[in-house]
Amino acid sequence: MTHLTRRIQYSFAAVACVLAAVGAVAQSGAPPAAANLVREVADILLPPPQPDVLAYNRALYALYFVRNLWNLAGLWLLVAWGLGPTLLQAMAARVKWEPAKVMACWVAVVLATAAWALPWRLMGYQMERAYGFATLGPGLWLADRARDALLACLYAPLAALAYHWMKRRRGDWWLPMSAVTGVGVLVMAVLWPVAVDPLYNRYRPLEQGALRAGIERMAERAGAPDPEVLVMDSGSRTTKLNAYVTGIGPTKRIVIWDTTLAKLPPEQVLAIVGHELAHYSLNHVWVGCVLGILGAILIFRLLSLALPRITRATFRVHGIRASWDPAGLPLALLLLNVVLFLQSPIGSAVSRTFERQADARGLTISENGISAARAYAAFYRQDFADPDPPPAVVWWFYSHPPLRERVERALWYGLAVSPAAGRNRPKEGPAAPFTLPEAR
Ligand SMILES: [Zn+2]
Repeated sequence: MTHLTRRIQYSFAAVACVLAAVGAVAQSGAPPAAANLVREVADILLPPPQPDVLAYNRALYALYFVRNLWNLAGLWLLVAWGLGPTLLQAMAARVKWEPAKVMACWVAVVLATAAWALPWRLMGYQMERAYGFATLGPGLWLADRARDALLACLYAPLAALAYHWMKRRRGDWWLPMSAVTGVGVLVMAVLWPVAVDPLYNRYRPLEQGALRAGIERMAERAGAPDPEVLVMDSGSRTTKLNAYVTGIGPTKRIVIWDTTLAKLPPEQVLAIVGHELAHYSLNHVWVGCVLGILGAILIFRLLSLALPRITRATFRVHGIRASWDPAGLPLALLLLNVVLFLQSPIGSAVSRTFERQADARGLTISENGISAARAYAAFYRQDFADPDPPPAVVWWFYSHPPLRERVERALWYGLAVSPAAGRNRPKEGPAAPFTLPEAR
């Protein structure tokens, strides 16, 4: 890490020289040469990864797939071992209220799957510690996992409602379930930042000062004046950098991690907040909610068609009487998770589209492509983010475009050149065509 940082520091002088050359070429209107030079600057900001960066990212990719397949295998084992029928048999004499049975099944499945997932989650935590990213001790880590499981248990009434409608309405249970989920998604989008996030982290308003003033100026440009900007105590858990936008309506806010404030110079923090303001002004949280609801409707419809067929076909093996039998809850969750895993490329592609839009709009808000490029490069330098992930990995689960693409886009903007046409950027940009990288 130190070696990498030093290499990049040595490279800044070279960056300045190349930028000056690119600026000259950009102004003389020679796009192919400018394109080559943008690539060269990106190469300087993102030098070839050291073996530890490569090893870290390979381990992350492997862990993602292993963990997902492991979790699916865990649910399958619960189905094969007959957890649902066993639990319902045990409750038959004591519990008469049907929703209570479903909720008990739900809690049992949540706790069993959380315990099953623990070894790989522990491995992920150990890896973050080994690379020096995780700052939280085992106690807080375990408390976080317990909070995850308890939160998942709170969805038990939704499961009870689903089985209530499955029994009463049979094939078209997905209609009222979609309506409830639609309302639930919107309510949770409002409540999450004030009811759930504070269970894990502490938040404080960003204090008055030059940075706050800069953000307010950008917010005016973004057409989203007076945003709520909070600082999260991310340093209590990680050394990594981030910022995000969350909430809708009264709880809409931009959250900057305190690690980002501590490690990046103000120009780069502004570039990152510019990206978040773009999400804010493009209403991405709202659009995300609507797409989430549409996705849920589609998945419920799919389950309403598939579940009766699969239950009938496996009745003799698993002892689940019908699709509305709560004993089939682990089977329904297995199906749901298979569908969610298989739709990853779709969800990831939608997310990357949002992120590209936010990158492009964010540059016109922060008006500082060079700082944006350097901030993205900091994700590589500080967090070991992969600058060139394998295309298959990007396609399957990358929520953001690869770092090199983001750095190059920011450099193009910073150098006052449009990548498509090689023409000068519209005049709302900064007066100077480019600025030299600021000293860190
Ligand atoms: Zn984003």
